[in-house]
Amino acid sequence: MVLDIDKFKDINDSLGHSAGDILLIESAKRIKSCIRNNDIVARLGGDEFIIVLIGTTTATDIDKIGQKLLNTFAQPYIIDEQSIHCTASIGVALYPNDATSIDTLLRNADQAMYSAKARGRNSINYFTENMQTEFLKRMEILQDLRIAITQQQFHMVYQPIVNLSNHKIAKAEALIRWQHPEKGLIPPADFIPIAEEAGLIVEISEWIFNQVSEQVKYWRNTYCQDLMISINTSPVQYRNQGKQIIAWAESLKARNIPTKAIAIEITENLLMENQTEAVNVLDKIRQQGIAVSIDDFGTGYCSFSYLKNYAIDYLKIDKSFVQSMSANNKDAALCEAIIVMASKLNIDVIAEGIETEQQQKFLTEAGCLFGQGYLLSRPLTKDDFEQLLIKQSSKVQTKVS
Ligand code: C2E
Ligand code: CA
Ligand code: CA
Repeated sequence: MVLDIDKFKDINDSLGHSAGDILLIESAKRIKSCIRNNDIVARLGGDEFIIVLIGTTTATDIDKIGQKLLNTFAQPYIIDEQSIHCTASIGVALYPNDATSIDTLLRNADQAMYSAKARGRNSINYFTENMQTEFLKRMEILQDLRIAITQQQFHMVYQPIVNLSNHKIAKAEALIRWQHPEKGLIPPADFIPIAEEAGLIVEISEWIFNQVSEQVKYWRNTYCQDLMISINTSPVQYRNQGKQIIAWAESLKARNIPTKAIAIEITENLLMENQTEAVNVLDKIRQQGIAVSIDDFGTGYCSFSYLKNYAIDYLKIDKSFVQSMSANNKDAALCEAIIVMASKLNIDVIAEGIETEQQQKFLTEAGCLFGQGYLLSRPLTKDDFEQLLIKQSSKVQTKVS
């Protein structure tokens, strides 16, 4: 069994490392209390433990031990007179059914543990052949990603963000596309999480930033002088004091690109999980003039405290709210409430995923300033986006003359 404590990093970050150490020691004791004398428990590193159940052990026995472990973990920990709740995720692989070598057995148990985390933590999960295929698929994508970076298989598309009051394109969101030489177009949802986990996202984002910033510079100079393009960022990029993101502001200045030309999108979860570090980075780049948008607003650990405490420029209402809105339902009420709240806080709202006239009408009437979605435009290649900018700028010129 591989046992990993859920959200151990949060405990370390919020209560300090000595509290984390106490929790690890107490966890080890609790594990020992659940297993038999001849079983083995070892700490592999960090908050990960390995438990070896030795001898003939039936499936029901293993499950009993697993449940006992979860229950024991769920009892509150008292650290510094505080009561702390903590859970664990367990992955199980069986010898000889799932693997016959130690390395593979461990890797498979680890894989099972990851699936337990993905399923919502606090659970025990058994290795299956399916997981093996999933695992191999991920490894293959990872390998291909490394090649994709060197062979420039990525390109950016731009989805217009439209001012709902005058239908002008005010902004755009840059979205990455991966054209795989054999597998065709691979959607970002299939590779961004893998790139994040492996840290490759930092390198990919550097490429994205360079592409987008050169592009926005050209478009601003040629067609639309106040165009702003937003770039999606991942939590990984805020580690190490967010050096990468902070350097972006400097890089724009060095190339005479106004910092207002770029906005960055972050998800609420980043603010929750990584508070102090992320907030410092965001404060710094905002002072330099780069705007900050909260992406997928309403789907994460939505907390009003960050709206109160940190300066934010845009909220993007998640498409799940926009798309399930209908007259008098709760989603419509939520959209309306988000728009009112944001306006009082001087934050502009961008509604995502607008697909119908009805949704657009409702949002406009509710006072939402910006919209994005298939109804207004799909994400476009840079040439197609440029055509829209040309059309828009010639309209303005004819109006003036
Ligand atoms: P996101 O940031 O929420 O991006 C919006 C997604 O919604 C895009 O999917 C876009 O094509 C899609 N979309 C736009 N309008 C509509 C609509 O009316 N209906 C529906 N059903 N969908 C709409 P895409 O391009 O597949 O990207 C998926 C996610 O992948 C993004 O979600 C973002 O989290 C991530 N991603 C995409 N490009 C990048 C990137 O360059 N860097 C990073 N770090 N993440 C990216
Ligand atoms: Ca986004
Ligand atoms: Ca979004």
